Amino acid sequence: MAKDKKSRTPLPEPLLIDERELGMDASSIVADIRRHFNHTLGCDKHSISAHHLYEALVIALRDRLMERWKSTHYSYQDEECKRTQYLSLEFLMGRSLGNTLLNLGIREEVEKAVSTLGLELEKMMEVERDAGLGNGGLGRLAACFLDSCATLQLPVMGHCIRYEYGIFRQEIDAQGEQVEKPDHWLACGNPWELERTEFIQRIRFRGRVERIGDGDKGFQMRWVDTDDVLAVPYDIPIPGYLNGTVNTLRVWKAVAVEEFDLTQFNAGSYVEAVAGRMHAENISKVLYPNDASESGKELRLRQQYFLTSAALQDVMRRWLRDQGEDFSPFAEKNCFQLNDTHPAVAVAELMRLLMDRQGMGWDQAWAITIRCMAYTNHTLLPEALERWPVRTFRELLPRILDIIFEINARFLSQVASRWPGDTERQSRMSIIEEGMDPQVRMAHLAIVGSFSVNGVAALHTKLLKEGLFKDFYDLWPEKFNNKTNGVTPRRFLALANPGLSELLTETLGVGWEVDLTKLKDLRPKTKDKTFVRKWQEVKRRNKVHLAKMMASCCGVKFNPDAMFDVQVKRIHEYKRQLLNVLHVIHLYDRIKRGDTNDWTPRCVFIGGKAAPGYWLAKRIIKFINNVAKVINEDPAVGDRLKVAFIPNYRVSAMEIIAPGTDLSSQISTAGKEASGTGNMKFMMNGAVTIGTLDGANVEILEEVGKENFFLFGLTEAEVATKRKPYDPERIIHEDEDLSRVIQLIDSAHFNQFEPGAFDALIGSMRSPGDPWMTLADFRSFIDAQQRAAEAFRDQDRWTKMSIINAACCARFSSDRTIADYNRDIWKLKPVVPKLSDQTA
Ligand SMILES: *Cc1c(COP(=O)(O)O)cnc(C)c1O
Repeated sequence: MAKDKKSRTPLPEPLLIDERELGMDASSIVADIRRHFNHTLGCDKHSISAHHLYEALVIALRDRLMERWKSTHYSYQDEECKRTQYLSLEFLMGRSLGNTLLNLGIREEVEKAVSTLGLELEKMMEVERDAGLGNGGLGRLAACFLDSCATLQLPVMGHCIRYEYGIFRQEIDAQGEQVEKPDHWLACGNPWELERTEFIQRIRFRGRVERIGDGDKGFQMRWVDTDDVLAVPYDIPIPGYLNGTVNTLRVWKAVAVEEFDLTQFNAGSYVEAVAGRMHAENISKVLYPNDASESGKELRLRQQYFLTSAALQDVMRRWLRDQGEDFSPFAEKNCFQLNDTHPAVAVAELMRLLMDRQGMGWDQAWAITIRCMAYTNHTLLPEALERWPVRTFRELLPRILDIIFEINARFLSQVASRWPGDTERQSRMSIIEEGMDPQVRMAHLAIVGSFSVNGVAALHTKLLKEGLFKDFYDLWPEKFNNKTNGVTPRRFLALANPGLSELLTETLGVGWEVDLTKLKDLRPKTKDKTFVRKWQEVKRRNKVHLAKMMASCCGVKFNPDAMFDVQVKRIHEYKRQLLNVLHVIHLYDRIKRGDTNDWTPRCVFIGGKAAPGYWLAKRIIKFINNVAKVINEDPAVGDRLKVAFIPNYRVSAMEIIAPGTDLSSQISTAGKEASGTGNMKFMMNGAVTIGTLDGANVEILEEVGKENFFLFGLTEAEVATKRKPYDPERIIHEDEDLSRVIQLIDSAHFNQFEPGAFDALIGSMRSPGDPWMTLADFRSFIDAQQRAAEAFRDQDRWTKMSIINAACCARFSSDRTIADYNRDIWKLKPVVPKLSDQTA
């Protein structure tokens, strides 16, 4: 051991368990559930609640995870392997119980155990609240990545904030409007997590910067008189699939420093001093509910720095303990993947820690930083690009701002020497945007400080290189790479769709859960009549299940023989839920005018949350609800068309929705959706996509072929040229179906007692400045929907398309995505945990 390594507190060895000793059989599990219920939780016959039963089961499982967790951790330590920290302000985890049972391979034994105790596993699983620490796709991607990293046995740890309130619960009021209810998901505690007070970190804010030392041996900067907050880590186990690996998601809670403000204390303001703790603890109070737009609030910047600094200091702590003061091999052993620019301040924070804490000079610190950081871009939408006012930075993080200025000065001189005299380029590329109120461009900071910059689908990466980041691509083409998103087949296929999983195992044998290329062998099965019947039966059962959920959550009755046409995702203009509603109104119009020959009955589901401050998105929700009400109550429509808004769309709802879907709507304006991952979950479950050439739709189409995808709409290039000039009035005038639809909306048919309620929506679509060009794609969308309706009437043809979609989904497994990240960016070695007993 190197002499400067920090030694650990010696532990009495006999205390430790080094081997697995907990049985994975039903009777051991029964005994543990009983023990935890009675002893750990102290329940008695007067205090039996569903939650206690759930908790006792979770603790019994957590004990079993704990053994594997420790051996995974020991193996990582022993191998001194390189590790990646995945930094993300969001992890949309959903529920953990079902996933844990699946990945530990003990579902059957637990089912047995639970029924011995007279309980029902399904009901116990319903007790769990979704961990909603994310908004949508970006947060769910992080969650899928953790599952894949553990399954591929890669030493990757996730870091997030332990928000006390996750994404709000969405209710729909009598007027059809979204109402946000706080999601106090920790109210009954979280039995999965483990508080690790031994790893608390101190995070600094405000204060001022001081120069110490003389010019001789150089000088150092000190950040003093700061307002500090403690970051307390909680660890959540992330089991791999049947492989003995358990990785960690570390979520950080903000806690006031213990000491009180003495001046206040002496002035007799004891209560105020204690109450002042609130300010610090607000940092981890609530997740910002904006998807694809920045909040611009100071508290958000505090959250970003809090998470980033906690994670980096945590890695430094472990480095000092295990490796000592020598940081020269640090970059060979560490990588930080930045999930969007939210944690981009990591670039400056690592510089600060290396210089101010470790006494390193600039060049040495920069050489390390630039070899550790990797940045993933998630959007091209300008409203989502994060910029923080320099003055906010100066107030809140003065030392960090100094470092950013220095990074920028050195960077700009590099730009100047590459393109002498091109001052316009310099100001375009600068990390600081000059102006009345100068801003820090977080994306520029992330690119300058990283060795890798990736987009999340082929089209998106191409657009990054050609557009948004073109200047940077010209300078550093080697930094840019694509990593098309994926989703985990464990949660979204094996767990969500047990009927299909059973059929897959029966047909393909075991192992498809970790190798979706095996699903290729389904292709020839489209000719096998018995197999086709079985596939149809599975889909039908899933539709009955989904219809049941819909009946209970919004009281609309769906006929499982109708086509289930689904669009669930955050509500945003670019995702064009409005285009979907225009089609619904067109179908309604056809029914009303008697154009119903060869009709395909259809149930249209739309769901998703709108950011609370995004007025137009909330209007879209009301519009959907108003339209649904008129259509569903019209006796002339009957079973031909039903429409419903699914309230509170979330991960656990998606697990029921995707398996029961026939047609998946992925209809964003081309060039606007970076990748999409909902599209992949549906495809995996045998839904056919109706979609534009956007994000990963392009790659889905490549895999399944034109015959198995309903393609429509302008391409990204066409959107760009058609924009000037764009004349929606002419489009309306030249399309009779569209004229009738607009006329119906204009006549207040869907808002008879609410005059003008949808004027803003109509206005946005009719504006020549409509960035989403909704009306430009109307005709092409209606035609594609008609093709889909015709295909659906031939059930055997449809089933063939469904099977082929599932058969071609391998490229969209997050295992493939993570293998790509690892091959090109992280370069980690898989580590098989050592343990005497090598079963899962
Ligand atoms: C997958 C998923 C998303 C992302 O959906 P997109 O269609 O890609 O926007 C959002 N929210 C939840 C709950 C999801 O499961």
